[in-house]
Amino acid sequence: MLTSRELRQKYLDFFVSKGHKIIPSASLIPENDPTVLFTTAGMHPLVPYLLGEVHPEGQRLTSAQKSFRTGDIDEVGDRWHLTFFEMLGNWSLNDYGRKEAIEWSFEFLTTILKIPVEKLAVTVFEGDSDAPFDEEAYKIWQGLGIPAQRIFKYGKKENWWGPAGTIGPCGPDTEMFFINNQEDCGDNCGPSCSCGKYVEIWNDVFMEFYKNEKGEYVKSDRRNIDTGMGVERVLAVLNNLYDNYQTDTMWPLIEKIEDLSGHEYIESPEVTKSMRVIADHIRSAAMVLGDDRHIVPGKKDQGYVVRRLIRRAVRYGRNLGLKQNFCSQVAEEVVKIFVDVYPEVTRNHEFILTEMAKEESNFRNTLENGIKNYELRIVNLPTGGILSAKEAFDLYQSFGFPIEMTVELAKEKGLAVDVAGFEEEVKQHQSLSRTGAQAKFKGGLADQGEMSIKYHTATHLLHAALRAVLGEHVAQRGSNITAERLRFDFSHPEKMTDEQKKRVEELVNGAIATNYPVTFSEMTVPEAKTLGAIGIFDDKYGNKVKVYSVGEPQEPPRAHENALTFSKEICGGPHVTNTGLLGKFRIVKEEAVSAGVRRIKAVLE
Ligand code: ATP
Ligand code: MG
Repeated sequence: MLTSRELRQKYLDFFVSKGHKIIPSASLIPENDPTVLFTTAGMHPLVPYLLGEVHPEGQRLTSAQKSFRTGDIDEVGDRWHLTFFEMLGNWSLNDYGRKEAIEWSFEFLTTILKIPVEKLAVTVFEGDSDAPFDEEAYKIWQGLGIPAQRIFKYGKKENWWGPAGTIGPCGPDTEMFFINNQEDCGDNCGPSCSCGKYVEIWNDVFMEFYKNEKGEYVKSDRRNIDTGMGVERVLAVLNNLYDNYQTDTMWPLIEKIEDLSGHEYIESPEVTKSMRVIADHIRSAAMVLGDDRHIVPGKKDQGYVVRRLIRRAVRYGRNLGLKQNFCSQVAEEVVKIFVDVYPEVTRNHEFILTEMAKEESNFRNTLENGIKNYELRIVNLPTGGILSAKEAFDLYQSFGFPIEMTVELAKEKGLAVDVAGFEEEVKQHQSLSRTGAQAKFKGGLADQGEMSIKYHTATHLLHAALRAVLGEHVAQRGSNITAERLRFDFSHPEKMTDEQKKRVEELVNGAIATNYPVTFSEMTVPEAKTLGAIGIFDDKYGNKVKVYSVGEPQEPPRAHENALTFSKEICGGPHVTNTGLLGKFRIVKEEAVSAGVRRIKAVLE
């Protein structure tokens, strides 16, 4: 069994033997970088040097870096994603290039760690209109003995890094995967598949492009190498363990949780998941608290993340019957694990335990009151009833109830919660408090009355029906909703006939009568397009958009047309949960707005 200590040491020694200098882990809290809350990778503290600053230790560096990714919090519970993890890395600051980087990665994996070549698969950048296929990387891997069928080519989504902002250094990368002993899950199984057969362990990034203000990718005059390897994942696959949690920097936490709760890690999928979340969250919270910056749980920034981690751990603890404070006992194990590895953790030992216990006690107090309050709210709900978005939001707002907890408590009583509505409430609240003026400016959207929400959903039905009756050229040009009516502007060259209007009404009322569920999923814009979602595709969207489906729920990336889906549309919501709630739809007026644009006013009765 290779230990984490041995792995870190072997890695650093290996790169020292290739002329690298060891640099210590930087703080988890980035210095002079207000754009992110945490250090997300080994390269993060090196950004100024990658951009051209001279590094005091030279051009070849290596480190074991504490890393934290808030973006992975929802993945926690699976086998491979943690919020806090350790990243081993080596860098070339305008020194060596791909050949050395890839060859050394390969040498370390196969010679030092003795991973059989057959267990490795790699990916390289396939090229697109911005940058060419990374043929060099492909050939280097082939030359090292990786056969073509285990060298996969992917586009930017998988094999391109950066830039970190809108402009800056970026470039193709090549990722290394460990192949687990399991079958392909299907035709398209490969490293980008999440079935668990391929575990990504290492990424070599070739930062040799620069994205400029015009959005062009130009070859940079600097060539940097940035690599990152996850300690927990490598230890797991190397030691033939099923997941990150069985490695030596996590297993003592699981054992502690087993002791405290009397449950066994492998007892059931629910128990496994709860233990994973608790172990991950307490470890991460302890590592942030253990940083010399002395972050305390609180209402904003890093403090808020720590608070959220501890509260989630407490709530998952409830699943295991843990009703007394337990977090600091688990955190004690974290301190033991990282003693001598990250000396600050030992230095801040007391601080970690006290802050952890304080936050847990605070939360437990409101938690108990919250549960009482919750029970009052549901007392009149029949079995199968729905706790409204507003009530779920009150619990969240006043008692810090994470929505998952409300859902779970409801489930125990045979109730459901309007989660989509809750998420809307949170979003509305956030944008209201963040930019009150902006929210007001949006007018219609700030009006969250029940009728407006109904009209909002009715608008989706109308849009889909118009396309079905008039043709695919129909696209939204504008929409305005009040509590009394909807108004919808769309592209269409001529006045609608009475027959067409009637048909549209029939389709919409048919959808209402079918009582379709209204659901949404989040996906990227290209995924939404593949899915055939309609709506306004424009630049205001970030990486992810919401697609509302009327009919069978859609998960990305299922690309096929689905006959059971009445409408799929990119939209921020909110919507009713079922079309049956809408009443009867009637078109009141159809008129011209401008050349090629028509307007419909319609009501729900
Ligand atoms: P994935 O696609 O699996 O989420 P990634 O592409 O986000 O990984 P990189 O940004 O390339 O990962 O990070 C480099 C290495 O760090 C990965 O190869 C992996 O070994 C490790 N790593 C990344 N994210 C995590 C995480 N959430 N938990 C544990 N290890 C991680
Ligand atoms: Mg990656």
